[in-house]
Amino acid sequence: MNYVEHALELAVENVKEGGHPFGAVLVQGDKVIAEGVNQLHHRFDVTAHAELEVIRKAQESLQTQDLSDCTMYASGEPCPMCLTAMYFAGIKTVYYSQSIHEAEEAGLGMAKTVYMDLAKPSEQRKINMIHTPHESTNEDPMELYKQQNESNTHSE
Ligand SMILES: [Zn+2]
Repeated sequence: MNYVEHALELAVENVKEGGHPFGAVLVQGDKVIAEGVNQLHHRFDVTAHAELEVIRKAQESLQTQDLSDCTMYASGEPCPMCLTAMYFAGIKTVYYSQSIHEAEEAGLGMAKTVYMDLAKPSEQRKINMIHTPHESTNEDPMELYKQQNESNTHSE
C-alpha cells in the first residue's frame, strides 16, 4: 500500500465532509497502527490535526508514548505543532505530499506562519513570552521532580 496516497484519499474524504484537507496514517513495520483526519470541523480543539489524531490513537492502542518504531505518512507537510509531537513520540521519519506552501495557497497559512515565527529570536515572535522567576518561598516543582527522580533511581 502507498501510505501517502492513502493519507491523500483520507484528506479528500475529509474535504468532502466539510473538513480541512489533511489525513495521516501511522505505520509500524508493515502494519497500519492508526489512521486519522483533521477534526477541526467537528471539535473546538485546535490540536485536532490529522497527525495528532493518529498519534493519540496509536499511543492509546499500543499503550505507550514511544512511537520510535513507527513512520508517519501525512497528506500534508506537518505543522510545527504536529512535528513537535513527533519529536516527543520519537517518530524519526515522516513522508508527506503537499507542502505548507500549497496549504498557504489554499488559505491555510498558519503552519508556514508559525515555522517562520519560530525561526526568529524569541523576543521577536508573535507570542509574548515573559519569564517570571520562581518565588523561593513556594515549593519548586522542578526541584521536587528532581528529588523524586533521584530517589527512584536509588530504589532501583
Ligand atoms: Zn498539525
